[in-house]
Amino acid sequence: MTFVPAPERRMFCNRTLNMRSIHAVGFDMDYTLVHYDVKAWEARAYAHAQRRLASEGLPVAALEFDPDLFARGLVLDLEQGNLVKANRFGYVTQASHGTRPLAHAAQRRTYAHVWVDLSEPRWVFLNTLFSLSESCLYAQLVDLLDAGALAGHNGTDGDLDYRALYGLVGRGMDAAHLEGELKAEIIADPERFVELDRDLPRALLDLRHAGKKLFLATNSEWSYTAPMMRYVFDRYMPAGLDWRDLFDLVIVQARKPAFFEGDAAFETVDDAGTILPHHGPLAAGRIYRGGNSRLVQQHFGVEGSDILYVGDHAYADVHVSSRIQRWRTVLVLRELEREVREEQEFAPRQDQLNALMKQKELLDHEQATLRLALLRIDRGGKLIDGLPTDPDALHERLRALRPEIDALDRRIAPLAEAASRIGHSRWGPLMRAGADKSRLAREIEGFADVYTSRVSNFLYLSPFGYLRAVRGTLPHDATREAAPQSPEEPSTADRSPAVQPPDDPAAEDPPLVW
Ligand code: IMP
Ligand code: MG
Repeated sequence: MTFVPAPERRMFCNRTLNMRSIHAVGFDMDYTLVHYDVKAWEARAYAHAQRRLASEGLPVAALEFDPDLFARGLVLDLEQGNLVKANRFGYVTQASHGTRPLAHAAQRRTYAHVWVDLSEPRWVFLNTLFSLSESCLYAQLVDLLDAGALAGHNGTDGDLDYRALYGLVGRGMDAAHLEGELKAEIIADPERFVELDRDLPRALLDLRHAGKKLFLATNSEWSYTAPMMRYVFDRYMPAGLDWRDLFDLVIVQARKPAFFEGDAAFETVDDAGTILPHHGPLAAGRIYRGGNSRLVQQHFGVEGSDILYVGDHAYADVHVSSRIQRWRTVLVLRELEREVREEQEFAPRQDQLNALMKQKELLDHEQATLRLALLRIDRGGKLIDGLPTDPDALHERLRALRPEIDALDRRIAPLAEAASRIGHSRWGPLMRAGADKSRLAREIEGFADVYTSRVSNFLYLSPFGYLRAVRGTLPHDATREAAPQSPEEPSTADRSPAVQPPDDPAAEDPPLVW
């Protein structure tokens, strides 16, 4: 019997992972073990931050949270008040100024000589679903600033500019998350905010029964962690067990990413939430606060590479734990489920699009070669084998090509447009930027050994599973592909005088131009 999950529930592997060699598995809580209804949770975070800004006199009362405005993996440009999508090299492929899409010409003007370098303070990466409320509020404030509605208000360091606006929003959001009222609302009514997953406890129990040590390392406080974990796990646990039985260590207020870089000491937390200093080795079954990742390794008596850590924050959970401590990592991206489903539905049209793009490539190549042939006739040089030497014939073919290419473009445009809306109607697929990989995809390739939509997908992997890295594609892989085949495609024989496609296996001589 094989256990084959639906495509959107698979674990996607960048770096081969043998679960048998993993000794301990750590989990983040928020948006990892506990998944929230983004619309509901982020609307409340937004409302609390908004109220705080209103109490400082900012005219924000009429603003509303829009969960679909932005997406994880986009980047705030604090110099311009923009949100941008960048490809893996940092080149901006899409942008909005505040909440409004930026026209292509304006985008080019702003970003032709600029690329997104996340080590510069100008850029803020949207690492997690928590970023959706913050970025929405930021963009709406940019709109207000542009409209002159914030005249007379100051940032902490004087004038209110796009950077200072981010400071305001960040402080408002920090207060919302830290002051307790927001979390009290969630604890009081978890049905409204939390999406349950009945398979989740089973996945963790399997790991535990297979001898893995499990630990929780969350930035949340104990007063929030305990009710959330109880709500999500206890109803599905075997009789007589509760969520605490799953974990060897529970670490709250871990202060990631510093947890992976620093040497803070652990404190203990008792069930009532009292915090006491801690000295000496950690004890299984206890609750700790703060601490650092080296002490966790010491506790388990293992190296970083024996620990697998599962989290949703691209930087604080995955980038830093992988780069600094060499922990193995899984990034949880719930949005992937919708995206993979949409990609599956789109697959036949994607095949059509690929075939049309291949045809376009051939026609573009033919056009370029004809122009080169004319240039050589004009300037004197080696003529190109297989092409007419009569300039009139070359011109005639060039003229005939133009409408052919235009007709192809008209067929390509709607398909390309639909492809660019997969996953997110405005920003498109998480891990693609145009035809290239997105900046988020690069982050994932660099630091997430595995990415998947939810923790219960571990059920399909099993604690004894072996995930092999997918063999990556390279631009020169295309040389092994067969010549384009499409029912709609005219055969090469119909195209006269054809320059043979470079990868046409039937061509007697490769169409070398040089
Ligand atoms: P974790 O994902 O389990 O590590 O927990 C994330 C914690 O960070 C939660 O308690 C969130 O409320 C909190 N959090 C998320 N975004 C912000 C923020 O912008 N400022 C302060 N705390 C935040
Ligand atoms: Mg989290």
